[in-house]
Amino acid sequence: MGRVVHKYGGSSVADAESIKRVAQRIVATKKAGNDVVVVISAMGKTTNALEKVAEAFYSGHKDEALELFRQIKESHLTTAKYLLVHNYLAAEAQLKDFFTEVEWLLHDKPVRDFDYYYDQIVCVGELLSTSIVSAYLAESGLDNQWIDVRDIFRTDSNFRDAAIDWDYSQKKVVDEIKPLFAETNMVVTQGFIGATSDNESTTLGREGSDYTAAVFAGMLNAESQTIWKDVEGVMNADPKLFPEATILSELNYDEVIEMAYYGAQVIHPKTIKPLANKGIPLHVKSFLDPSLEGTIIHECEITRLPPLIVFKENQCLISCQVTDYSFINEQQIGIIFQTLSEQNIKINVMQNSAISFSFCVDFRENKILKLIDHLGRNFEVYYNTGLTLITVKNYDAALYEEYRNLPGVILEQSSRSTFQVLVKSPGGVH
Ligand code: ASP
Ligand code: MG
Repeated sequence: MGRVVHKYGGSSVADAESIKRVAQRIVATKKAGNDVVVVISAMGKTTNALEKVAEAFYSGHKDEALELFRQIKESHLTTAKYLLVHNYLAAEAQLKDFFTEVEWLLHDKPVRDFDYYYDQIVCVGELLSTSIVSAYLAESGLDNQWIDVRDIFRTDSNFRDAAIDWDYSQKKVVDEIKPLFAETNMVVTQGFIGATSDNESTTLGREGSDYTAAVFAGMLNAESQTIWKDVEGVMNADPKLFPEATILSELNYDEVIEMAYYGAQVIHPKTIKPLANKGIPLHVKSFLDPSLEGTIIHECEITRLPPLIVFKENQCLISCQVTDYSFINEQQIGIIFQTLSEQNIKINVMQNSAISFSFCVDFRENKILKLIDHLGRNFEVYYNTGLTLITVKNYDAALYEEYRNLPGVILEQSSRSTFQVLVKSPGGVH
C-alpha cells in the first residue's frame, strides 16, 4: 500500500462548502488504498488577515489588532459551527487555545523584531484550519490523527523565511509520524510553519505549504505528492494577465525550479528539491474538477515547451557606485554579496558596469532600507522601487521585440533560453 502526500491550498479550505469538497477528495484518495499525509494551508485569505493583525500590533495599535483578530476568530468559529455537530465542542476548545496564545501576545508591547511577532501571529492560520478540517473529517467517518507540525519540523530562527533542520526533523518524522500509520491511515497537519529549538513558532515563507508537503514526501519516501489548487494545473503564464495561457500537462523538475525562481506563483520555489532528490512525482490538480488531468512534474525529457512568461512584481533595483571614480572591483562586489548574505536577501537579477554594480531584489521595505543603509557605508547607493521583473523563458523573436520595447524598461538581460526585462510599474519611483 502506497503512502502519498496531499496538499490543500487556502482556497480549497476557504469555507465550509470547500472543506466538504476536500473530504470528498480524501475519500477518493483513500479508496485507492493509500496512507495519506494531508497538509493544509490557512483558510482563504486568513494569512493576509493575520499579517494585518501583526502590522497593527507592531505599530502600537493594540485595539485595532485585537479587533482584526476578533474577526478572524469569529469566521473560524462560524465555519466550525456550520460543519461540526459531535466534534464541535472539542474543536472549539482547540481553536480557543490557539486564540488565547495570540491574544496574550497582542497584550504585550513589542520588544523584538517585527518578523518574530509576524511568525508568532501568522502561524495560527494553519493551526486553526487544520483543527477544523481534522474534526470534520473525523465526523465524516474519516479517521485521522491531527499533528502540530511545530513538534516535527525544527527550523532555524530566521523568522518569516525559516530553514528546516533536516536531520532533526527527519528523525522526528521517522520516530513520530511513521509509527502513526500503524493506527490510522491519515495524518492531518499544517503547511508553512515550524518551530525553533526554543519552541518559538516560525514560518517558511509565503505559500510555503507546498514545501512542507514536499518535505514530508521526501522524508517518508512517498509514492507521490499532489497539490490541489484553484487552477487546472501549471500554466505557461498567469491567466489573469494572459487569457490565452495554456496548461502544461507535463514538466520536468528543472523547468519548474526555474519558473518558481523567476517568480511564477504556481509552486513554492523550495518544493521541487526534496521531490527531485528522491524522484517523487508531483501532481498539480484542480480541486474543483478532479477529473481534469492537471500537470505532472517528474523526471522526463521535454523537447519543445511553449514560451513561459513570469511577472515578478514589487521589485527594487539597487545600484552601488564607487565613490572615488575607480572601477568597481571584485573586492567591492564581495562586500555587496557579503552584506546581502548576512541580511538574507536574494538577488533576482544583477548587472555591472565600470563604476557600479546593480541588482534587483524583492522590495520588503524594512529589510531593504536597512540593506541600503549598510551598503551606504561603502558605496553611493541609488534605488528604484515599484518595478516589475518580467522573465520570458523559451522566447522567440516576436516576444523578444515585444518585451524589450515595453515602455519603462530600465534593464534587460538575455541568454539563449531566457530573456528578462525590468520595467517601471506605474508610480513608485524614488
Ligand atoms: N497560508 C500561507 C500563505 O498564504 C501558506 C500557504 O498558503 O502555502 O502564504
Ligand atoms: Mg496558499
